[in-house]
Amino acid sequence: MSNKIKGIGASDGIALAKAYVLKEEPIVISNHQTKDPEQEIELMKKALERAKTDLKNLQQLALEKLGGEKAAVFEAHAQILDDPMMSDEIITLIREKKYNAARAIKEESDKFAATFDSMDDEYFRERAADIRDVTDRWLRYVLDLLVIDLATIKEEVIIVANDLTPSQTAQLNPTFVKGFACNVGGRTSHAAIMARSLEIPAVLGLKTITESVKQGAMIALDGNSGDVEIEPADASLWDKKAKNYLQMKKELNTYKDKTTVSKDGNDKMLLEGNIGTPKDVEGVIANGGEGIGLFRSEFLYMDNDHFPTEDEQFEEYKKVLENMGDKMVVIRTLDIGGDKKLSYFQFPAEMNPFLGYRAIRFSLDRKDVFKNQIRALLRASAYGKLGIMFPMIATIDEFKAAKDFTLEQKKLLEKEGIKVGDNIEIGMMVEIPAAAMNATNFAKYADFFSVGTNDLIQYSMAADRMSEKVSYLYQPLNPSILNLLKLTIDGAHKHGKWAGMCGEMAGDAKAIPLLMGLGLDAFSMSASSIPLARSIIAKLTIKETQELTKKALELETAEQVEALVDNLLASK
Ligand code: PEP
Ligand code: MG
Repeated sequence: MSNKIKGIGASDGIALAKAYVLKEEPIVISNHQTKDPEQEIELMKKALERAKTDLKNLQQLALEKLGGEKAAVFEAHAQILDDPMMSDEIITLIREKKYNAARAIKEESDKFAATFDSMDDEYFRERAADIRDVTDRWLRYVLDLLVIDLATIKEEVIIVANDLTPSQTAQLNPTFVKGFACNVGGRTSHAAIMARSLEIPAVLGLKTITESVKQGAMIALDGNSGDVEIEPADASLWDKKAKNYLQMKKELNTYKDKTTVSKDGNDKMLLEGNIGTPKDVEGVIANGGEGIGLFRSEFLYMDNDHFPTEDEQFEEYKKVLENMGDKMVVIRTLDIGGDKKLSYFQFPAEMNPFLGYRAIRFSLDRKDVFKNQIRALLRASAYGKLGIMFPMIATIDEFKAAKDFTLEQKKLLEKEGIKVGDNIEIGMMVEIPAAAMNATNFAKYADFFSVGTNDLIQYSMAADRMSEKVSYLYQPLNPSILNLLKLTIDGAHKHGKWAGMCGEMAGDAKAIPLLMGLGLDAFSMSASSIPLARSIIAKLTIKETQELTKKALELETAEQVEALVDNLLASK
């Protein structure tokens, strides 16, 4: 029976496919004795082959996407399964003690892992975890349970999960993953941001979707409205929705190759793309991006098992700068902490990690890590037009410390005879209300601002951006937010600096007229939002957006502002 639920539309598009529920069923081993040992041995061998094939595929994928070091992990896993001693012992248990295949594998692998567990050397103790990991896969095949490997999905599915981590999201192949639906998250959670950069429709904040949908059931979703239907009553309605959506996309595509110009001929505004990896540049260029307004460098750190070295980072930054030619590329220094964790670094336990040791606070404390990144950025600056920006700046002292450190490193590099660009701009994110309130002073020192509305709104409203319970407080159109934006943009302009925005608000169709009216210079967004943004700008004159903004700043609620914008857009 069809079941309709509503969540938060997090990445545009319509999807209809089978659900792939990311919920591993527990492995339960029974003690029953087998009457047919040879059949159990056959089952165990077939499962072993399937597990080995998986590991080979994963090794290959890791090699293509993540490099040799990650791939070596899967090779080591395959070697564990190749060990004939373990298989021989398992066969003996099945033949002589009449164990069922699963029980024999479990008993033997536990014994094997326990040997490693008892060793002093940490390296060998970690191998115990590897043995458990690979035998889990083997057991799942023996017991006919679902084995979850996002990277190896080979049929069209919609992923249904509690949440998706950035690294899980990065593994998704958009050819097969048609959408995703999660219990938690909202428009600005990182799963949403990644979904938009992969152009996969997503609905988040669905609370209990993992409980409501069965493995393999048909499911449909609308990533704009947030509507989800499990076992749709009329699939043809969804097909029609998908067709309309594609038609609209096609019309908007004509804006990909145009320049950004308002109806009255203002062509000073830039529409740029946000990226997480150098690969995302393709999407920005394909959608007509006029630069990169935000490269979230933390993804280089999260998709790794060590702090990336200066050289490793240099190569990635250089790729982006070269591919963007003479267009501006703003790279944000490491914004780690909060919900963005590293597998190889233990953050201190804090009551409020979003308000804690993170981003520039971490970088200024860990100059060793910061230095590698700054040197890599400065070296890469010789290959294009680079803007370096610091995240989570709250005080003038923090900004000055980060900027001074960067300039010192620049001098040192030049002394070493290493080429550094001569047109680097050093700016900051405005995402803490304290920075917005003090923007005029910051603008004396910063070359540019980029407003991070995802955080600016969460901190202004004191509403966790990851919590669907308080997602109603994500109110970009609230006059309080508009006033903070006005302070920021006016502050920049007072000192002849430019003000951009790289939070999700920059690509929000209803916010764009207001941002034009406030005088925003650069709008950076998910690449797929660029054509729509350009089509909106083309319909409006600066004068009418200024009038709109003036009225909006005097209103009381986000709803009132929304009605005002709707009214203007409807008249176009
Ligand atoms: C923001 O806070 O708006 C922003 C762009 O940064 P992030 O979403 O990575 O926190
Ligand atoms: Mg932020």
